[in-house]
Amino acid sequence: MDATRLPTRRDVFRKLAAATAALASPCPAFAQGAARVAVIGGGFGGASCARAFRRIDPKLQVTLIEPKTFYFACPFSNEAIAGLREFEAQQFTYDRIAAEGVTVVAQTAVKVDARARAVGLADGTSLGYDRLVLSPGISMRFDALTGYDEAAATKMPHAWIAGDQTILLRRQLEAMDDGGLVVLAVPAAPLRCPPAPYERASLIAHYLKTKKPRCKVLILDAKDGFSQQRLFENAWEELYPGMIERIALSQGGRVTSVEPATNTIVTDFGNYTADVANVIPPQRAGRIADIAGAADNTGWCPIDPITFASKLVPNIHVIGDACIAGALPKSASAAHAQAKACAAAVVSLMTGKAPEIPRLTGACYNTVAPGYAFSLSGVYAPRDGLFIEAEGASSTSPVDAPRETRAREAETASAWFTAITADTFG
Ligand code: FAD
Repeated sequence: MDATRLPTRRDVFRKLAAATAALASPCPAFAQGAARVAVIGGGFGGASCARAFRRIDPKLQVTLIEPKTFYFACPFSNEAIAGLREFEAQQFTYDRIAAEGVTVVAQTAVKVDARARAVGLADGTSLGYDRLVLSPGISMRFDALTGYDEAAATKMPHAWIAGDQTILLRRQLEAMDDGGLVVLAVPAAPLRCPPAPYERASLIAHYLKTKKPRCKVLILDAKDGFSQQRLFENAWEELYPGMIERIALSQGGRVTSVEPATNTIVTDFGNYTADVANVIPPQRAGRIADIAGAADNTGWCPIDPITFASKLVPNIHVIGDACIAGALPKSASAAHAQAKACAAAVVSLMTGKAPEIPRLTGACYNTVAPGYAFSLSGVYAPRDGLFIEAEGASSTSPVDAPRETRAREAETASAWFTAITADTFG
């Protein structure tokens, strides 16, 4: 195959047929019109997927397993941390999804028996399925950073799973005296929403500039370069001169341990005592992915990018942040697009049809101040078992655009959030 072209439908289906033959098993129930699909995780991936199943085929028995009554969205949570948005604007319920015929079970999935095709729930009951979709998001690698465990996170919040952690970080910023130091520890890739740490640093700086102008933000980064770097750095120079400092990996920015008792963050080159320590640790797929046997030794879940079928466990599909999706960044935008493609592929597989080859669009908006945003968007398609970026289909905001362009992008960002949350939960 010509390595410079995207694969054709036939190329990919040939590979897919071989790969899925080993894993997929027939779905006898489907012939009787009562196939059962279960989805674990009611975030942007899982909630969208459950809904898409019902919309594709209202006869499907769809169950969404999610312990929380309210979903707290991460996109725009940096605005909430900076006091630019109410926390309530980040919360969504599952009422509309239930009204569309999805059975919403408010439980944590604690076990997956792939052979028996059953999910064990925290209340001791179990739920059978013909196909299972996992969209559990991320869990923190509390073993990866010396000193950073669950207890440390209550003192040095990560705020990388939105909710109580987001509120805690906001409260700490409010309580900090003018002249204090905020330290953001950023892990190496892969991580949920790669540009979000820099958006957070920007919006915290905005809050400090307006309320506590003698404060500083220090980013300790385990990476050298990052997404949309020039756009961020230009904005920092323009909006927050002297307020944000970043120490990159090659300058000694990688955090090696933390000491919560003194709010100290340690790198190979120095110790930093923070007034507010926002420590984002390394991550992995949500714990249930591991329990199900769908995560490999990287901590993430290898999948077939056409069907999202796990490469490790039969009749299980993985979407969202938990899966290994190549060039497709871990984002709400990607999880939402994967969810719809996955539901369509699963229905195709269950009815013996060839799944469509997904072509997924992802967009990522970064707000650095009210009315000032920029973005990155791309189109992604499968090749060689991963998603790659379709050539010529991606775009990043220009580096030297006027403020009107940034203001327009801020409006588009807000419209994007309204649209994606309405499509997922509304
Ligand atoms: P999640 O949305 O985290 O959903 C996972 C769900 O699974 C949770 O509700 C959880 O309770 C549930 N769950 C986990 N385990 C179990 C279990 N055992 N049983 C039952 N349920 C379970 N993305 C963008 O596209 N644009 C942005 O602007 C953006 N901004 C961001 C800003 C920040 C600060 C952060 C941290 C992230 C941002 N993201 C953004 C990324 C986005 O939030 C995630 O990529 C997205 O939420 C992933 O969706 P998901 O369904 O994989 O996981």
